Amino acid sequence: MRAATTKTTCPYCGVGCGVLIETDGTGQVKVRGDPDHPANFGRLCSKGAALGDTIGQEGRLLEPVVDGQPASWDVALDRVADGFSRIIREHGPDAVAFYVSGQLLTEDYYVINKLAKGFVGTANIDTNSRLCMASSVAGHKRAFGSDTVPGNYEDLEQAGLVVFAGSNAAWCHPVLYQRILAAREANPAQRIVVIDPRRTDTCDSADLHLPLKSGSDAALFNGLLAYLDANGRTASAFVADHTNGAAAALAAARPMTLARTAEACGLPQADVLHFFKLFAATPKTVTLYSQGINQSASGTDKVNAIINCHLLTGRIGKPGMGPFSLTGQPNAMGGREVGGLANMLAAHMDIDNKEHRDLVQGFWHAPAMADRAGRKAVDMFDAMAVGTIKAVWIMSTNPLVSLPDADKARAALAACEFVVVSDCMRFTDTTRLAHVLLPACAWGEKSGTVTNSERRISRQRPFLPVPGAARPDWRHVCDVAGRMGFAEGFAYASPADIFREHAALSGWRNDGTRDFDICALGTLGDAEYDSLAPVQWPVTGTAPLGTGRMFGDGIFFTPDGRARLVAVTPRAPNNAPNAAYPLVLNTIRVRDQWHTMTRTGKSARLSAHVFEPFVAVHPSDAAQAGLADAGFAEIATAFGTMLARVRVAGDQQPGTIAVPMHWNGEFASHGRVNALVNPDVDPVSGQPESKHTPARLRRHETAWQAFAMTRQAVDVPEADYWVRGREAAHWRLEMAGSADAGTFEVLARRMLGADLPGTEWLAYRDARAGDFRYAVIRDSELVGCLFAARGNRLPARQWLGGLLGAGALAEADRRSLLLGRPLQAGPDPGAIVCSCFAIGENQIAAAILGKGCRSVAAVGRELGAGTNCGSCKPEISRIVQRQAGACGTKIDVPENRQMVDASP
Ligand code: SF4
Repeated sequence: MRAATTKTTCPYCGVGCGVLIETDGTGQVKVRGDPDHPANFGRLCSKGAALGDTIGQEGRLLEPVVDGQPASWDVALDRVADGFSRIIREHGPDAVAFYVSGQLLTEDYYVINKLAKGFVGTANIDTNSRLCMASSVAGHKRAFGSDTVPGNYEDLEQAGLVVFAGSNAAWCHPVLYQRILAAREANPAQRIVVIDPRRTDTCDSADLHLPLKSGSDAALFNGLLAYLDANGRTASAFVADHTNGAAAALAAARPMTLARTAEACGLPQADVLHFFKLFAATPKTVTLYSQGINQSASGTDKVNAIINCHLLTGRIGKPGMGPFSLTGQPNAMGGREVGGLANMLAAHMDIDNKEHRDLVQGFWHAPAMADRAGRKAVDMFDAMAVGTIKAVWIMSTNPLVSLPDADKARAALAACEFVVVSDCMRFTDTTRLAHVLLPACAWGEKSGTVTNSERRISRQRPFLPVPGAARPDWRHVCDVAGRMGFAEGFAYASPADIFREHAALSGWRNDGTRDFDICALGTLGDAEYDSLAPVQWPVTGTAPLGTGRMFGDGIFFTPDGRARLVAVTPRAPNNAPNAAYPLVLNTIRVRDQWHTMTRTGKSARLSAHVFEPFVAVHPSDAAQAGLADAGFAEIATAFGTMLARVRVAGDQQPGTIAVPMHWNGEFASHGRVNALVNPDVDPVSGQPESKHTPARLRRHETAWQAFAMTRQAVDVPEADYWVRGREAAHWRLEMAGSADAGTFEVLARRMLGADLPGTEWLAYRDARAGDFRYAVIRDSELVGCLFAARGNRLPARQWLGGLLGAGALAEADRRSLLLGRPLQAGPDPGAIVCSCFAIGENQIAAAILGKGCRSVAAVGRELGAGTNCGSCKPEISRIVQRQAGACGTKIDVPENRQMVDASP
């Protein structure tokens, strides 16, 4: 491999940051933000900055596997094609399904959608994007007649008011959030409002935080709509000339007086009025929304309630204003463009529209066009459970972790007659149930395009050789299609070939009638495709350089060209808390993990921020359930139970709990929180209600807790609870149990390889106190240790982790191991806050208290924390405020930044 620099795109969130990869010819890579990419201008968040940690081959699937045995590509592809063909022949096309992913590249997505909808003849193709932004798609289509994000990232910088609704952008879209904060530095008049039941890190920058009642967003925006109209903010000419439905939407909203809105949302009237006044007074307003709005059984209505406010005020299609859906996945937008949802057709066309179906069928020369919508994600797995769907092909996703009621989905997949999985990882919760596994290329090996949240298409370019027998997903599809008798429709030589067809279809008989049109890219040569610069669609003959903003002319893609305000009647979530399940479970994300951790879980520095899954509980609920911080709780819902470490958190509302959704069965015994989530879905979008499941908590007593640190990953033990993850030069395994585990000697010897030649064994046992410490030393270096204790009296992990990578042990270190604490105790750095420089909370607190650091910038100057990717700045700010508040120190917060926070 030659030394080279490759421009590519981050594979995580929908911000779609440009990345520069420098390879040095030895397999080592350096990752930095692409200063020329318009999404990030050189910035990367902690996840993007750690991409280099995730590209190793450990755990990769490198050859096809059929019935658990390695197989040749020919055998595997024949088996897939024969299996699907037989079931289609015997039971019809709707007996098969495809479940794909917003992590696929657009070209992969295009061919699998084409195979399903045009050649197999079923629309049973859906995607994990259904779980993420289907409500935005449905809301857009109802309002605009098309799935169009009107604005762009510059609008967020130009806005006078940025409203985050159900979005913890500080953690989930960090680079965009940092862009907004940088814009506010330049324009201190900009205001930020956060609407979220939790006090998240995004609230750190907010002028106003509205911690509304879970599920009450539509009531709030209906109240706003009525307020705007009553206070003369209706853009009468725009509404008259460019919209329909305003009267009905207002009639539905008017019952939400200020008092009723406040009551419905559980907020003080003064704070609701403060928000309404800010919105009313600021023409340049952007409302950003994400999973907190979308992941709801009334998500589509919530989206339309937001869009209604922008349409009524004419705040759309102009600089600095508009509703703005933030997508969670790197290519959720690309998937939408190719029609990867069960109710869509390629190129943003509608499957229910015969004219569109005929157009696509003619373009594809498709033999068997699906003529109606297929099964959406939850419905698809239900159909597997009852045998209606008998074969499924899952690509690049881990639905047994991410789907709601995930244990039911697991049972459904186990019952499915024929399961094919394309993945780059050998063992995931889902690959374990596959009859055929097809090895896919990983991020650094793939070539194609992705589209970010602002409609910007960027190239993902390969910079690593393809390992083993892995192949790109589009090749899997084309090879199977050929074997099913469809070779002619899938004779692509490259992703560029596919992209040209995709672009040409978007312009085919379009004439400005459809929003998605990139026909100007349909004639790119291979070299032009390779060097394609990031560009926002539409890209047409009249807009060859792309289109930054849509709807500036007030013309929409409805039959009459008018946008539609939708009458919204707010609905509470279907499943209300009750005597058996009195709390509300919300699934959340943490800053340094992404989705189901199959990639970010490989990075030690990303694991350092939050090592274990947890349940965040308000202090009053913790007290009522007898829970202690860092103890264990059993969480139960009507769908499942799990154990989690308790985090007593004042940022939770009383009556609500929050659990991160990332941990999968490879990393934790009880990480799959979606097994507890109700499978209730929005009737319009089919998106599940992931933010509101009635739940209860019970204290879980453990007889012991333990942890092991080993150079190699070890088999997990029989224990009530375990979590494993990477740390600097070793693996760490946390364990807890309620049954008597004896002296732990047998477990420790096995885990630590104590019987290998040349091993020195250190052991300390105090059975009466329940303290056990074991360590193995080879060539004078510590290579593994296991500590166990009653309760949680265990030493700091950072100290022991440091000894594991420290070379030859000093005599004092050996004695420390047996003592269970460092002899010369340096300060405990505390929980890691800054992943880039491994700076802990205690170090930051010491800098504030001991060195007088009174701002994030001062902490950065003293410790370096927050000065690289900046993702930890909100957390540092909270520590500054907390510490300063505790000791009565004045902190450096501009006067116009004193936040109003109605948190309980
Ligand atoms: Fe990747 Fe972070 Fe940018 Fe999202 S914000 S695309 S995770 S670098």
